[in-house]
Amino acid sequence: MIDRERMVQEFLELVAIPSLSRRERAFAAAVKERLVALGLEVEEDEAGTAIGGDANNIVAHLPATAPGLPCLMLNAHLDTVTPGENIRAMVDGDRIVSDGTTIVGADCKCGIAVILEALRALREQALAHGGVEVVLTVAEEIGLMGAKHLDWSKTRAKMGYVLDGGETPAKITVAAPYANKINFAVRGRAAHAGVCPEKGLNAIQVAARGLAAMRLGRIDDETTANIGVIRGGQAPNIVPDRCELLGEARSHNEEKLRAQTDHMVKAMQAAARQAGAEVEIDLRRDYNGFRLGPEDPVVALATEALRDLGLEPTLHVGGGGSDANIFNEHGLPSVILSTGAGAVHTTNEYAYIPTMVHSAEWLVAIFRRLETFFG
Ligand SMILES: [Zn+2]
Repeated sequence: MIDRERMVQEFLELVAIPSLSRRERAFAAAVKERLVALGLEVEEDEAGTAIGGDANNIVAHLPATAPGLPCLMLNAHLDTVTPGENIRAMVDGDRIVSDGTTIVGADCKCGIAVILEALRALREQALAHGGVEVVLTVAEEIGLMGAKHLDWSKTRAKMGYVLDGGETPAKITVAAPYANKINFAVRGRAAHAGVCPEKGLNAIQVAARGLAAMRLGRIDDETTANIGVIRGGQAPNIVPDRCELLGEARSHNEEKLRAQTDHMVKAMQAAARQAGAEVEIDLRRDYNGFRLGPEDPVVALATEALRDLGLEPTLHVGGGGSDANIFNEHGLPSVILSTGAGAVHTTNEYAYIPTMVHSAEWLVAIFRRLETFFG
């Protein structure tokens, strides 16, 4: 039912069209064309305008063949990370790889290829379903921006599957952390470093003291923290008057996230106070976490479908944010399924074909299970 060669061919066509975040227009048009050809009613929202991109989220519907059954959402994101232009993808055994100078685009075009192939199989087999909602977002890689600006009035699904997982087949990511963005701007005083350094106040040094006092990395089994960017200074002979640090903290436990965030803020404030410097703190919730269990219908349905294929699922607690965080926050229970994407966000990235094929079969099995599950 799933045609491996057809999927591989389609994936190669998809990754040949670049779709960096906020520049997904050409790729979105190509995907829309395919969805229309598969019989879906395709709409766009206005997310692109809201976030300064050239393409919007796509919301497409395959009309129900059994209207009593619930509508399911299938999601993937249209954008990729860099370097993602002039991709020369090639098949290497069971993998599709780039020439080593770019990503291959498996994140998230494996997911898109899986969805398209499943839709094709659904049509060929005339399965009973309550409607399929395909939501393809823009700008996921730069902070889930498309999903954050999704026009929910265009959606009607009751639960969703996010096709943005990895290469291990049969894996369901049922939980993801809460995350805060934590940015600091330490303000000192500029002075000539050789003539009158005592008139200056070194913002880099103050920031470094604050940073050194922070617990970072893996804080406990639920919590992580990082300072990932430092910017500051103009020249070796100028005492720097400004230093910025960009960081984050994540936790599956909201209380622990609050405590870790507090700790980082206090460490920087103490360093600033001690030196007589100022510190501006920009603190924001990036996304909310979620946790679903084996008994939740969205997990149970995927599990039963997998058993129909003779496999047991692995329920996985994820460490990253994805569109699933936003969907769950909006009350649309969603979990992340395997797609075949490996070594993502690197030039060694690959698409693992057997998992792509398996995930497409899995989606079809989910739709085949619908009637029994909800009957
Ligand atoms: Zn992704």
